Amino acid sequence: MSKATLLKNGWIVDGTDSPRWQGDILLAGERIVALAKTGEIDAATLDAYGPVESIDCTGRVVAPGFIDVHTHDDAAVLDDPGMLPKLSQGVTTVIVGNCGISLAPVVTEVPAAPLSLLGRLQFRHASMAEYAQSVDAATPAVNVAALMGHTALRMRHISDLRHAATQAERDAMAADMQEAMDAGALGLSSGIFYAEAYAADMPELVSVATVAARNGGVYATHIRDELAGILPALQEAAATAKQSGLPLVLSHHKCAGPANWGRTKETLPLIEEMAKGQEIAMDVYPYTAGSTVLREDLVDGIIDILITGSQPHPEMGGRYLADIAKEWGVTQQEAALRLKPGGACYFQMREDDVDRVVSHPLSMIGSDGLPHDERPHPRLWGAFPRVLASYWREKGLLRLEQAVHKMTGMSARRFRMGERGVLRAGFMADVVVFDPEVVQDKATFESPKQFSAGIEKVWVNGVLSYTAEQRATGQRAGRFVRRGAAQAA
Ligand code: ZN
Repeated sequence: MSKATLLKNGWIVDGTDSPRWQGDILLAGERIVALAKTGEIDAATLDAYGPVESIDCTGRVVAPGFIDVHTHDDAAVLDDPGMLPKLSQGVTTVIVGNCGISLAPVVTEVPAAPLSLLGRLQFRHASMAEYAQSVDAATPAVNVAALMGHTALRMRHISDLRHAATQAERDAMAADMQEAMDAGALGLSSGIFYAEAYAADMPELVSVATVAARNGGVYATHIRDELAGILPALQEAAATAKQSGLPLVLSHHKCAGPANWGRTKETLPLIEEMAKGQEIAMDVYPYTAGSTVLREDLVDGIIDILITGSQPHPEMGGRYLADIAKEWGVTQQEAALRLKPGGACYFQMREDDVDRVVSHPLSMIGSDGLPHDERPHPRLWGAFPRVLASYWREKGLLRLEQAVHKMTGMSARRFRMGERGVLRAGFMADVVVFDPEVVQDKATFESPKQFSAGIEKVWVNGVLSYTAEQRATGQRAGRFVRRGAAQAA
């Protein structure tokens, strides 16, 4: 057990969106054990925890460790358990299994798209319980909570992905979903935008989501269409969640494609309206470019597309598709076909739309970073500090407390993560200390693997895991985090 640590005289931003206050916080073992105004934790309490190391946090913010609600770190936490891209941002928990894509329950040596977004090496878990065991055995530097992916369930159980599941296939998928919930999964994710899941109909989705609902889970979805057909796609997601009886999280909400720019003025009011009758939230990353596998149907000849990696042409990583097409003397679509399989960043959003979503009260922050890309979208290394630097400090679109809330307390509450995401006595000691004047993302599209500035110290389950001077401390204390009870707001 690590000795007790007293973080003294910092600005406590507790994750609940209540106003910051100046005070001390005592960590002992894996928990937060006391908080009080500066100097007011009494001697008896301090004595009770034995030798206490004091750290002066004057002028610094002390906040709950950030929760990255939208990740594809499923395999990364096993392959690269140091998890520096996340830990260095102050992230202490990642939610994996988003967009319908999860390792469990798929066992294969040749994962097909879109599962291959997770790399190729770790498809060896026939159940969520086996995945949880792998996480605990790897002891990643951050905690890991998991969604079961609907596309993964389809790939395991549906013989012809061009069709909706038969009754027998639905039953098989539902049985795996039950296993995942028994193992502590947070719920179900889907990615019916992707061809491999596009044929899923309402009965198929509801049959699986109902199992998550019965067990207190949530439903996170990458909706069918984020372009022209976004409104019916949002309605479909809400109807699926409502019929199944569980809370909905709309993944990486965006209005993609130039023809759709400005339409968050339609989507956000629709989401607000639907949220009057059911629980709905969304996640968002603070950039105008998205990133996913390379797809020729997303090539419109208008938006910029940056290649993040290509299996047949790895030398083209980091170059723009338009330049490659010109060099090859072909159309951009043809160039995309030749570069596949690969990944790309699509500059498909407009800043005012992103601003509206990031500052919306129903949104929380998820990076959607892709750790297996050679030259990843900078959100992998920078999303959380960027919210603080751009959205709070520079643009003033969020209050500091609100920005932190969207990365901590709201995330834990929406995803039913139990005693995390808030600085409260008795809660788990996932804590970040940062310099509010300095905190800044450094990762760019040109140079995407960069440490952020201003993240000074990070504790995971009470263990000091990262410092600005030392980077990784060498102590890794993450674990598989099981679904908890819903937290009071
Ligand atoms: Zn997605």
